[in-house]
Amino acid sequence: MATDTLASPASLSESQARVFKNYIDGEWVESSTGETFENRNPANTRDLVGIFQKSAREDVDTAVQAAKRAFQKWRLVPAPRRAEIVFRAAEILIERKEDYARDMTREMGKVLAETRGDVQEAIDAAYYNAGEGRRLFGPTVPSEMPNKFAMAVRQPIGICGMITPWNFPMAISSWKLLPAIVCGNTCVIKPAQDTPLSTFNLVRALADAGLPKGVINIVTGFGAEVGTPIAEHPEVRAVSLTGSSAVGRIVGGIAAQSFKHCSLELGGKNPMIVLDDANLDLAVEGALWGAFGTTGQRCTATSRIIVQKGVHREFVDRLVERAKRLKVGNGLDETVQMGPAINEKQLETDLRYVEIGKNEGAKLMCGGNRLDQGEYQHGWFMEPTVFVDVDPKMRIAQEEIFGPVVSVIPCDGMEDAVEIANGIEYGLSSAIYTKDVNKAFTAMRDLYAGITYINAPTIGAEVHLPFGGTKATGNGHREGGVGAIEFYTEWKSVYVDYSDKLQKAQIDRPE
Ligand code: NAD
Repeated sequence: MATDTLASPASLSESQARVFKNYIDGEWVESSTGETFENRNPANTRDLVGIFQKSAREDVDTAVQAAKRAFQKWRLVPAPRRAEIVFRAAEILIERKEDYARDMTREMGKVLAETRGDVQEAIDAAYYNAGEGRRLFGPTVPSEMPNKFAMAVRQPIGICGMITPWNFPMAISSWKLLPAIVCGNTCVIKPAQDTPLSTFNLVRALADAGLPKGVINIVTGFGAEVGTPIAEHPEVRAVSLTGSSAVGRIVGGIAAQSFKHCSLELGGKNPMIVLDDANLDLAVEGALWGAFGTTGQRCTATSRIIVQKGVHREFVDRLVERAKRLKVGNGLDETVQMGPAINEKQLETDLRYVEIGKNEGAKLMCGGNRLDQGEYQHGWFMEPTVFVDVDPKMRIAQEEIFGPVVSVIPCDGMEDAVEIANGIEYGLSSAIYTKDVNKAFTAMRDLYAGITYINAPTIGAEVHLPFGGTKATGNGHREGGVGAIEFYTEWKSVYVDYSDKLQKAQIDRPE
């Protein structure tokens, strides 16, 4: 087996399994435990994508010390110069887009069209954040005193710890790393154990673009052994987690103990409302994409479709007919529309929720079964699944499943639809299909979620707008756009008194 080095080719050959070491201080180093774990293709578990370090607290500490040393120089590099490296990385990613998309399909299963989109999102984030390097605006305001100058400047926070999920393996790493480094921070990142390769590919592009050693450090491994030590480390000043609400509670609790900045982007149970006046062709198309894109494994996946009674029957007939025809398989096949679940555990969860739905009295209209014969025998596949007659209080309508299982809930009209839509613990994305502008604007105002789409499904965020949600979806921060710059900087207010005398704020006032 080959061992990874920075000089190695941009992508993996599909027949080779490489050993990846941690990337600390610009060097590839083995974990302190001497143990490793395997990264296998969920569409074909005989395909070994790579072998990664099973790291521990000691490795996190080594990475934090490297990030600390790098911070002393990196914070002094002018932001526009830092941004130029990020811009160059975007251009490298464009050259390597196809290779990195294939690596990603192999490690997490989603179809090539989507993994190309994932790499593209990192490219978009790189261009956006490169532009921010020449902004990082702060206010200059009049002082209340004569001959006194007042302004606020953004400063880097220091060492940032990032913990990422597996469903957008490059995009989510880019949302965190790129604004953080443009703002002058240094980073220690733990990618999800199912998809570490795509974070390596992103960081490889940054290193090849000229990122100095130690600015980004990768420590691979599992949540409790690597994620928790990152959140606990006293020298880490900001923690950014994207993951489940359960892990968010743990990480948020830890970060609060040492008053770290903490950004939590967590689960969702996203509603799509279809009213009687909707363009049904569009709504069915959107529902299929929202529910079964990425095998339903998006935090923004459409998992509840709330349909007004006048079009309920026709909508369900069309949706079910189309869901049955979706081609499931290995995402490397360009004709495949839906890939596998990420791993055995997630597949078991999906199938368990099918049983829960049936036991709760929901009607299974299609799907619900594991696919494990013939071409499916070495992967974690299941059929696209549609439940109807779902009561909003059922568990399948309340809990995040994170698989290709969608619930159709009937509703009487707009008011009822909004109440059902908001009646969950999450608040990430939401959507409404209607041609009535009044109802569209009412939905924009009343759906209590971080994102609302009009006549589009719940998925499809763009990098320059705020991304995140309400209630159990997060803790009020947003990724994307200037929200990320807010998170990765601290304000410093600066007063310059050029009056040559002591002026006392609030006390020295003109008569
Ligand atoms: P997860 O919560 O199981 O894991 C997320 C990350 O946290 C992984 O890197 C994991 O190793 C780490 N982790 C696990 N236990 C930990 C602990 N005790 N301490 C520190 N770190 C720990 O989530 P997942 O299965 O990787 O991803 C799916 C979840 O992520 C879903 O709930 C989905 O909605 C959510 N998600 C949210 C967004 C968003 O922006 N809101 C985006 C994508 C995914």
